[in-house]
Amino acid sequence: MRFADVAAVWADVEAAPGRLEMAGHLAQLLAKAKRAEAQPLVCLCQGVLAPPFMGLELGLGEKLAEQAIALVSGRSEKELENYFKKSGDWGAVAEWALSKKKQTSLGTEELELGGVYNSLVRLAKLSGAGSQDGKIKTLAELLNSASPLEAKYIVRFCVGKLRLGVAEPTILDGLALLRVPNVRDKISGIKSRPDAKGIRIKPLWDYETREKEKALDMEDSDASLDFVFTCDDAARIGALADGSAIWLEVDGFAPLAGIKLQKIRPLKDKPDHYRAQVMGFKKAVRAPLERAFNFCSDLGMVAEYALFDYARIERFKIKLFSPIRPALAERLPDAAAILEKLGPCAVEGKYDGFRLQVHKEGERVELYSRKLERVTAAFPEIVEAARKLPPQHIILEGEALAYSRSEKRYYSFQTTIQRKRKHGVAKMAEELPLHLFAFDLMYADGVDWTTQPYSSRRDALEKLVAGAGAIEPSSLKQVKTASELENFFDHCLKAGLEGIIAKDLNAPYTPGARDWAWIKLKKSYGALADTLDVVIVGYYRGEGARTGFGFGGLLVAVRNEESGHLQTVARVGSGFTEDEMVELEKMLSAVKRKTKPAELESGIEPDFWVEPKYVCTVSADEISLSPQHTAGLANGKGYALRFPRLVQMREDKGPAECTTAAEVEKLYSMQKTRGR
Ligand code: ATP
Repeated sequence: MRFADVAAVWADVEAAPGRLEMAGHLAQLLAKAKRAEAQPLVCLCQGVLAPPFMGLELGLGEKLAEQAIALVSGRSEKELENYFKKSGDWGAVAEWALSKKKQTSLGTEELELGGVYNSLVRLAKLSGAGSQDGKIKTLAELLNSASPLEAKYIVRFCVGKLRLGVAEPTILDGLALLRVPNVRDKISGIKSRPDAKGIRIKPLWDYETREKEKALDMEDSDASLDFVFTCDDAARIGALADGSAIWLEVDGFAPLAGIKLQKIRPLKDKPDHYRAQVMGFKKAVRAPLERAFNFCSDLGMVAEYALFDYARIERFKIKLFSPIRPALAERLPDAAAILEKLGPCAVEGKYDGFRLQVHKEGERVELYSRKLERVTAAFPEIVEAARKLPPQHIILEGEALAYSRSEKRYYSFQTTIQRKRKHGVAKMAEELPLHLFAFDLMYADGVDWTTQPYSSRRDALEKLVAGAGAIEPSSLKQVKTASELENFFDHCLKAGLEGIIAKDLNAPYTPGARDWAWIKLKKSYGALADTLDVVIVGYYRGEGARTGFGFGGLLVAVRNEESGHLQTVARVGSGFTEDEMVELEKMLSAVKRKTKPAELESGIEPDFWVEPKYVCTVSADEISLSPQHTAGLANGKGYALRFPRLVQMREDKGPAECTTAAEVEKLYSMQKTRGR
C-alpha cells in the first residue's frame, strides 16, 4: 500500500464530522491492506508503533523534527519557527516547507506503508551516544521521499501529535463495517429466540433492495436495515412478534446473537414473503471483534485476523503476555441499592493503589498497568512473589499498594505513588515495599477462568495465592443484607481503605466493560458518589496571587462514548498546591496547541488549548446543568461540576480511560438519592 493513500485517507478522517464517518474512511483503508500491512496500518492510525504493553515508543523531540525538516527543505530553522508560531503544528510546518522546497531531491522513491513503518521503528530503537544525529538522518530520509501531505503526517506522528482523533472503538467500527457484507453473503438462516419454536425463516438478501441496504450499512450506526424473508411454515410466522430476538446463522461462523426483528409485515406483491427491520446487525458483527480485542489488547492483531483469518477471531483465546482489558465497576449511591441490584453478594475492600495484571509463565513474569503498559521493572518484589505461585501459567489481577504487614497498615495513594519511578527502584522497593491484594483470576494452567462465575474464580484464586508472601487475596465478606454491607464498608474505611467493591457471585469476568458484575461504593465525596477522572483540554494563565505561577486553572472534559468526542464538564480552579501549579504549567505548556482539539466540543475558550493527553481526578460538591458546558449536552445544557477541585493526577489513565458523559449522567441522577 502506498503511504500516499494512507495520508489521503487520514486527511479525510481528520475532516470527518463524527466517529461514524471516520469509521467509514478507515474501513476503506483497511480493505486495501495486505496481510503484512494490517498490523502496522492499525498502529499508525492510532499514532503508535505497537500496543502499549510492548513498550515501543517513538517520542521524537520537536527540535529534532525541526532540524530534519530544515535539512530536507533548505529552509532555515528561523523560518520554520516563524511558521510554527502561526500554525502551532510541526506537521503543518513540514507540509509548508516541503511544498516550497528549495532543493530538488534526486533518486527518491514513492513511500510504501511498510517502509515508513520500518523506518519509524528504527527511529524508535535508536538510543545512546550519537543517536540524535541518527534520528535526524532517518527522519530526513523519510521526508526526502515524502509529498508535503505525507510529510505532515510523518512529522506529526514522530512528535506524538498525529491528531486524527481515532480511538480503538472507531477502528473496531471500521473492521465491523467491512465484515457486514461479508457475513451477510453467507447467511443461511435465522432462528427465532427465545421461544426457539423451530421457526426457520429464509432471508432473501438478493431481493431488489440489496443495493440500497448495502448503502445503509455504511451510513447507519445501528445498521438497522430492511430485511426480506420467506418462511416454509407461513402459518407460524405470527409467533415471531415485533422485537423478537433472533440468531442469525452464518455459514462457517458462530451464530450472531442479540439481533432483533421489528416491524414485521407481509409484502403485498409476493405471497409468503415478509419484510422486517433488523436491528443491531452491525453490533452483533462487531461483538466477536470486540471480544477478541478485550482478550488481547492488540488491535493490530485483531485487524489482521479479522481481515485475513476470521476463524481465529471466533475462537480467540487468552494469550499470556498479551494483557486482558480490565473489567470495570459501576457505581450505586448506597448499600441498599447494591443489595437490591445484586442480592446476596461478595464484598471486597477497595484498595487505592496501582492496578496490576500479573502474567507468569515459568520464571518469566510481566506486570501490566491499568493502561496496559508493561511496568514489570518498577515492582521487583511483586515479580518475585509471582514467580513463587504454584501454577506454571497464570494470569491474575490485583491492586498493589504500600502496606505494613506487621502493623497491618495500608498507606495512602500519595505514599504508594512514590514507587512510580524508573531509577532507584531496588532501594525504594526495600524502603516502601508493595503488597498485591489479588482480586481476580483469569487464567491458570490451561484453564480460562474468565467464563466461570465469580464465586468459583475466587475459590480458585484463594487456593492459588495462599502463602505467596507479597501477594495475598483481597479482604472479602459475603453479605446478605444492606446493614451487613454497611458494617463491612465502615470496617474498610476505618482500616484506611477507599471503600468497597461489591461483586456479583454469578458473573463472569467482563473484560473491557463497566457493567454490573462489580459495583463500587466509596467514602463520601459530598453529594457525589464518586470522583471523576477527566481529561485536561486547556488551561488558564494565573492572575492575582497566581500570576507568578503562570497557571490559574484547568479546563477539563469527559468522553462521550456515542460520538467519540470529548465534552467539557468543568473549569477547575482549586485543589492545587503551589508545587502542583508549577508542575502543571511546565507539563501543559509542553503540549500547548493553537487550536481547539478536533475531537473536543467546547463552548468555552481557555487561555491555552492543550493536547488531550493528561487525566486527573477531580471531586466536586455536585453536578448541575449549565449552558456553558457540553458534557451530555441536551436542550442547550450540559452537565457541569459545581466547586470542582483537583484531587490528583491520574498517570495510570489515558484519555481513553476517562469518565464518560453517560457516567456523569448516572452520577447526576444518583446525587438526589445519596444521603451520605
Ligand atoms: P477509581 O477511579 O474509582 O479508582 P477506576 O476508574 O480506576 O476506579 P473503576 O472500575 O471505577 O476503575 O474502579 C475499579 C478499580 O478499583 C479497579 O480498577 C481497581 O484498580 C481498584 N480496586 C481496588 N480494590 C479492588 C477490588 N477488591 N476489586 C476490584 N477492583 C479493585
